[in-house]
Amino acid sequence: MRFARFGTDRLGLVEADAVRDVTSALDTLPSYRYPLPTGDMLVANLATIRDRACAIAREARPSPVSSVQLRSPLANPGKLIAAPLNYQKHLDEVRANADLHHHNAINTIDRTGLFLKATSSLVGAGDGIALDHLERRTDHEIELAVVIGTRAKRVSREQALTVVAGYCVGLDISVRGPEERSFRKSIDSYTVLGPYLVTADEVGSPGDLDLYLTVNGELRQRSNTGDLILGVPELVAYASSFYTLHPGDVILTGTPEGVGPIHPGDVIEATIARVGTMVVDVRAA
Ligand code: MN
Repeated sequence: MRFARFGTDRLGLVEADAVRDVTSALDTLPSYRYPLPTGDMLVANLATIRDRACAIAREARPSPVSSVQLRSPLANPGKLIAAPLNYQKHLDEVRANADLHHHNAINTIDRTGLFLKATSSLVGAGDGIALDHLERRTDHEIELAVVIGTRAKRVSREQALTVVAGYCVGLDISVRGPEERSFRKSIDSYTVLGPYLVTADEVGSPGDLDLYLTVNGELRQRSNTGDLILGVPELVAYASSFYTLHPGDVILTGTPEGVGPIHPGDVIEATIARVGTMVVDVRAA
C-alpha cells in the first residue's frame, strides 16, 4: 500500500495515479498526552490504520495525485539516520574531487559509521527545496529511504527486514564544505521524502531496485541498490547496534555516483523502482 500525506495534514491511500482521502482512519489512534511516546505514531499504529484506511477508501472519491500538494509521508520521525559513502563509485568520485571532499577525512563506511540529520530538515516532494547559502556548492543525492516499523535494538542481519515498515524515495541535499555532515545536510528542506510511504510487502526485496535522478530532464545519477556496500539488512543491523530504532525512524541508505550541483529554478525528478517517482522544485530560500 501507498500512504500519502498531502495538503493540510490529510492522509491518503494512493492507487495508480489516484489518491483517496482516508484522514479519518487517524481517529483509530490512541489519544496521547505529554510526554508523547517516542517515534512516529502513524507508523507505530500502521496495521490498525491500514485496515481502517482500506475500509474508508472503498467509499472515497479518487482525486488525481497531481492535484494535491504532497507532504513528507512521515510527520514526526524521531531520527533521520544516514549512511555516508555507501556506493563504491560514489566513494571513488568523492576521493578524486576536492570540490566534493574538501580535505575532510574520507573513510569507508565501516570506519565512519552512520550520521544523523536534523528532523527539522524534513519536507515532502510538494514542499520543494529552499536553497540557502547560494554561494556554496549544494548537491543532489538520491537515496533509498528505509522506514522502521517497530522498536528494535541489536537486530540481526537475518531479522532486519522484519522491523522495516516500508520505503520512500529520499533526497539527501548536501552543502559541500569542511563542516560536519550533520551540519551541512540539515538545513531546512534538505531532506526530502516521498512521494509516498510504500509498505514493505509492496516493495519486496530492497536489494535490487533501480534508481535514477534527473535535473531539468538531464540524467545525473543511475544505479541499483544491489551496488550498496552495506545493503538494507546490514544498515538496519548496524544502526540498531548503536541506536534503539523506533517506529518512523528513517535510514537513508547512501547515494550512488553522479552527484552534482542544483540551483534555484531546477526541477529534480527522482525515481526508485517499486517505490515511486517524485518531482521536486528547487527555489532560493
Ligand atoms: Mn547522502
